[in-house]
Amino acid sequence: MLKKEIVENMKHIVDNCMGDSKSACTTACPMNTDAKKYIALMGDNRGEEAIKVIREELFIPRILGRVCAHPCESACRRGEEDEAISIAGLKRYIADNYDNPDMWDLSKKDSTGKKVAIIGFGPAGAQGAITLLKEGHEVTIFEKNSFSGGMLRYGIPEYRLPRDIIESEFSLINRLGGKVKFNIEVGKDICFETLEKEYDAVLVSIGKQIGRKDRTLDNHDAKGILTAVEFLKEVSLTRESKEAKGNILTVGGGDVAMDCARSALRLKNSKNSYVLFLEKNLESLTASKHEVESAMAEGVKFIPSFGIKEILINEEGRVNEIIIKKCESLFNENGEFSPKFNEEEIEKIDIDTLIFAIGQGVDLTINSGERFQFNKESLQNEKNPKIFYAGDCASSNIVVQAMAEGRRAAKSIIRFLNNEDVWMGRDITLEGGKSETKLYLPTEYLPESWNLDSKIKRRKGEELDPKERIKTFLEVEKTFTHKIALEEASRCLQCECKLCMKECMMMPEYTSCPKELFKEYLEKGYENMDMNIAYSCNECKQCTIKCPNSFEIRENFMEMRKEYVKANGDISPLDGHTGLDDGQELECSKKYSVTIPGKKQTKYVLIPGCTVPASFPELVEETYEHMKKTLGEDNVGIILQCCAKPTEIIGETKLFEERYSRVQKEIDEIEADVIVTLCPSCYLTYEKYSGRKVISYWDLMKEEIGIPKDKKDIGKDSDVIFNIHDSCPTRYVTSHHDSIRWVLSQLGYKVEEMANIRENTRCCGVGGMLGCINADLYKRIVDRRVSDATQDHIISYCGSCRGSMELGGLDSLHILQLIHGSCYYKKDAKKRSDNYGLHNRLEAKRRVSK
Ligand code: SF4
Ligand code: SF4
Ligand code: SF4
Repeated sequence: MLKKEIVENMKHIVDNCMGDSKSACTTACPMNTDAKKYIALMGDNRGEEAIKVIREELFIPRILGRVCAHPCESACRRGEEDEAISIAGLKRYIADNYDNPDMWDLSKKDSTGKKVAIIGFGPAGAQGAITLLKEGHEVTIFEKNSFSGGMLRYGIPEYRLPRDIIESEFSLINRLGGKVKFNIEVGKDICFETLEKEYDAVLVSIGKQIGRKDRTLDNHDAKGILTAVEFLKEVSLTRESKEAKGNILTVGGGDVAMDCARSALRLKNSKNSYVLFLEKNLESLTASKHEVESAMAEGVKFIPSFGIKEILINEEGRVNEIIIKKCESLFNENGEFSPKFNEEEIEKIDIDTLIFAIGQGVDLTINSGERFQFNKESLQNEKNPKIFYAGDCASSNIVVQAMAEGRRAAKSIIRFLNNEDVWMGRDITLEGGKSETKLYLPTEYLPESWNLDSKIKRRKGEELDPKERIKTFLEVEKTFTHKIALEEASRCLQCECKLCMKECMMMPEYTSCPKELFKEYLEKGYENMDMNIAYSCNECKQCTIKCPNSFEIRENFMEMRKEYVKANGDISPLDGHTGLDDGQELECSKKYSVTIPGKKQTKYVLIPGCTVPASFPELVEETYEHMKKTLGEDNVGIILQCCAKPTEIIGETKLFEERYSRVQKEIDEIEADVIVTLCPSCYLTYEKYSGRKVISYWDLMKEEIGIPKDKKDIGKDSDVIFNIHDSCPTRYVTSHHDSIRWVLSQLGYKVEEMANIRENTRCCGVGGMLGCINADLYKRIVDRRVSDATQDHIISYCGSCRGSMELGGLDSLHILQLIHGSCYYKKDAKKRSDNYGLHNRLEAKRRVSK
């Protein structure tokens, strides 16, 4: 059984890994539209596929591309480093160019015979209708106006949203078989109770069609005073206003105020258009920056920090002047909206029309003027289960949110009509409810592939000339060109984490991300998983280094190896390890080992490990001599024996303990104070188990004995520039990295640093004893590491790493070759791996025993 901590670690990864997390743009969209995917397709010039992705969630992409408040853009990760992607602009381009009504999905289930009435033909009602129609229910929509679109049509000016687009996109409801009864106002032309009786369910989706005025002011109902709702509706239908003329002043600081002010400019009888607002400056307005800028460009004049004190009227009863008062603060000490005015600081403005754009509400006539009471999640009426709500009359305040509510309410209705619980077991995030993503890469983890070059600016669609455009209601902003769409799509970072997967070469062979992998382990049990997964990890820990959460992944695999071994009679279950085991037995045997204590005491004992003696017996001797010369012959001993690390790595704990105990016995017997190592794995093993001070030969040279005297600057005339490969087991032992570089500088050799060094180094392929069981993966890891090199010559300080770098085609040297050799030139490059073998261990034994 796996240890509790390991199971907890796996759960921790499953709960927190960001590998499958959606991008922020998608989760911020109330309809969960996969912006990342359609942007990628567009960037790939695959607009026909991109529109399919959009239409999976949105039936009005051309409308939303123009008027959506785009919460996706506010959440866009690029926006934190640079400017957000113009997601709406791209959606608009894709929809304008690739949406084909002939290709719309008109499929639906067989008729259920159930009938649903929907009140209001805006985005919430229309989306609800689509969801219900597709489920096979009959839908009848009651719309009090003569056209589709609800507040989209009556609240958004034509210069932002051409009417033919509304007509075209809303036609889907008819094409799916939905019936629409225009010019029928529920509560006036037909009783709400009649709908309740005649239909199996009713969805109320009425918009905020009642404008507000400041009724505390005298003369608020005078001629020439309008609400934004009535003004915009009239302009929407006629492109004119009977009431509005001359100097038109709009009160308010939101997008609706901008719509009024810009529409006012376009009227035949208007002179000037003003916007009066309480906020200190334009930056503090709730209106979108783009709308404010457009209004300014068109000539709207802004009056900040003022509110209305008095409305004055002429003898005809029409507004002709207002007195405004200075707003000194907007919020009280509790942060609540509570404007304070200076009644003394006043100004007069001559106006002919006053438009209040200070909010709007829902007509509650059908509920006898009472607020609707419903469950906020299921959107079902709390008293009458047949009635549901969506859109402005529920809680949404932007179009796409209204659509999401329409869909959610429709799903509740579907359950209700099936006699199911309307909410149990539902996950709002899967239904397109707004959710937070776990995906967040801190700036320091942003991959290089994320092209954040600030020169690649966010693209805008071209706009009509402000002077010309205010003469008409023609659409102001143009759709991107193909070139601009491609450029803008290329700015998308295609946000995802998987930083570990991009680095690790083994996990991608088995999984899409650690979350998925460890979920499978937890569900199936490690004993039912392919053992090759755990044994293919080369224990490099590079996943942990790359992971923003620093998840410990290697540890899980290591523990699994131990359990696989335990279940197999304390021996590795994989055939590939048989040879390794046999070799380890020999390497730890007396035949290949020798212990020589210091002449008087063993203050220092050199333990050179296996691979260095097996390749360079003469260098072991030289190192031993160097230590004796500098530390005193009486104080220095040597133990030629294996630490058995490879046995431990393959999970054979019992065998390791037994093999390691042999070398520990030698250490204890000669009472060595300090162990000096030549191998990173030996260093870590003795650090962990020996109970002695352990130091690498490189640190010993830097800190105590220096390089051999006659070697100072020996390489200064060399024509070679070396890269340095740091070993991954000692990635956190920074003193080794420093000392190796110090040694090379003392020797006088030139060094050029390659990619992925020191703590961030990559495995040479040997880690985890991978080569024994997966030679192909081992070779690919070798090649990947070699591809980091910038020179043909590379220095390692591990015998195995040196071998791998040579296998990868580099002129690969162990640092001992430079420390104890003569000046190294390019002409000296040669292959050395054929010199590896146990016979060299015997030779090393012979040399040190002389
Ligand atoms: S950069 Fe692209 S994928 Fe990332 S949040 Fe922005 S639009 Fe979405
Ligand atoms: S330790 Fe290395 S090989 Fe193992 S999972 Fe992590 S990156 Fe992959
Ligand atoms: S780096 Fe890998 S393990 Fe870490 S959060 Fe990302 S996907 Fe998950």
